[in-house]
Amino acid sequence: MVGEKCGVCGVRCYDNSEAFNFLYWGLIAQNHRGHESYGFLTHSEGFRRYVDLGLVPRIERGEFLRWSILLPGKVGVAHVRYGTSGNRDVYAHLKDAQPMVVSKGREKLGLGFNGNIVNIGWLKDLIIRSNRRLKTSSDTELLCRYIIDNMQKGVMDTIRNCMENVEGSYSVVGLTSKGELFAFRDPLGMRPLCYGQSRGGGIKAVSSETVGLNINSLDVIDEVQPGEALIMREDGVERERLVKDGRSAFCSFEFAYFARPDSMINGRHVYKIREQFGRNVGKRYREIVEHCDLIISIPETADDAAYGLHEETGLRWERTLRRHRYVTHRAFILEDSERTTTIDRKINVVDGSLKGKNVIVVEDSIVRGDTTKTIIKKLKEGGAVKVYLFVTFPKISNPCFYGIDMATFTELIGFYFDEAGIAREIGADGVFYQPLADFIEATGMSGKDLCMACVTGNYPTELAQRIADKVRSTVNKDDHSRIYERHGLGV
Ligand code: SF4
Repeated sequence: MVGEKCGVCGVRCYDNSEAFNFLYWGLIAQNHRGHESYGFLTHSEGFRRYVDLGLVPRIERGEFLRWSILLPGKVGVAHVRYGTSGNRDVYAHLKDAQPMVVSKGREKLGLGFNGNIVNIGWLKDLIIRSNRRLKTSSDTELLCRYIIDNMQKGVMDTIRNCMENVEGSYSVVGLTSKGELFAFRDPLGMRPLCYGQSRGGGIKAVSSETVGLNINSLDVIDEVQPGEALIMREDGVERERLVKDGRSAFCSFEFAYFARPDSMINGRHVYKIREQFGRNVGKRYREIVEHCDLIISIPETADDAAYGLHEETGLRWERTLRRHRYVTHRAFILEDSERTTTIDRKINVVDGSLKGKNVIVVEDSIVRGDTTKTIIKKLKEGGAVKVYLFVTFPKISNPCFYGIDMATFTELIGFYFDEAGIAREIGADGVFYQPLADFIEATGMSGKDLCMACVTGNYPTELAQRIADKVRSTVNKDDHSRIYERHGLGV
């Protein structure tokens, strides 16, 4: 099964505009959330769909014009994707591309999904028992089929039913065959989703990140609340909080790594939060700062934290690591075999400034450690004497079952080693993490409203906790398959 870390958007035009243009720009702004495939689905007397592999900005102008004619309609949804497991051949990627469309009788349903379903075993059994043959390896198809099978209850009640039964993280956009646009967020609000409109309200839209609204000159109205659903129909928007859990579990990793720095989460710009991360590590590890000459950041997610560290300590921030603009894959989402060589190609070390220097490298997180190891090696080859690593996301030592591609204990360097061990493994002279309490305070959110399971091992949903507890004690160092696939997620 495939879990996804993706980006979604949806738009309904109540004026003379067409949806496709807004969807295109909404995806451009969020392409960092998924590089494998993209897709558009509009509705105008039926569904029109276009999906392809690769990056949205690479759609050529002629193609863009062609598809803007072929995908007419005032309402539509769109999606960028990367699958975190499952079949990685190109045909499978294309088949799994979203928005996905399923039908039942005369009904059709289109869906784009960001997140990961934890009780996938239960859902798969349910769908297969109702004599459905699955056409893809994606959990999105299961979710689509589950929703369409329950659609006789009406859209709102179907979404409520979904929230009550499906465990996991999910921010969803979808279209019904009547042209209703719906969007909802899981009861714990683990993945981002926001809502906005144009001045005057002629265009209304939802987007994973606020940048998907900004790029379309839409004002951000609100975040879709955990357990909330919106339905945009011709006659207006219906919003309802369907499930109230009394807590939320927003993914903390969005703050450190995934979200764009100019996006807003919980009313604050992500780059401001990252700057605070930098100030925090500067305060905590002053004795290291005092015998260093330079701050270097791993571009680009650690740049804001490096700036904060520089502001706090006065230490020079040197842009020694430069990113090649056209090597576009994010290291985190590459195949293991590709990762090291791509990092080598992607980051260039401007080594003139390094000779004889003690440097602090600011990094957003350490998952497997291979990216950082490659960079530290390059810095030392460039003449750096000591390399200390300041990491803004606390130590990751547990897998994520909610859609971030770190689903096994065995792939996490932090599962095996403490700070000294990690430093030894990656060739650093010291590794210093931002303490969890500092991290939480900088986000401006309460710790009880954040998921930090990959750090603490305390999962916000029941089945995920049971799986982690069951597997932790029996981890086989050589087994790199994903835990939730191996255990069928029905335990
Ligand atoms: Fe995010 Fe970590 Fe929770 Fe996964 S386990 S949702 S990466 S905070």
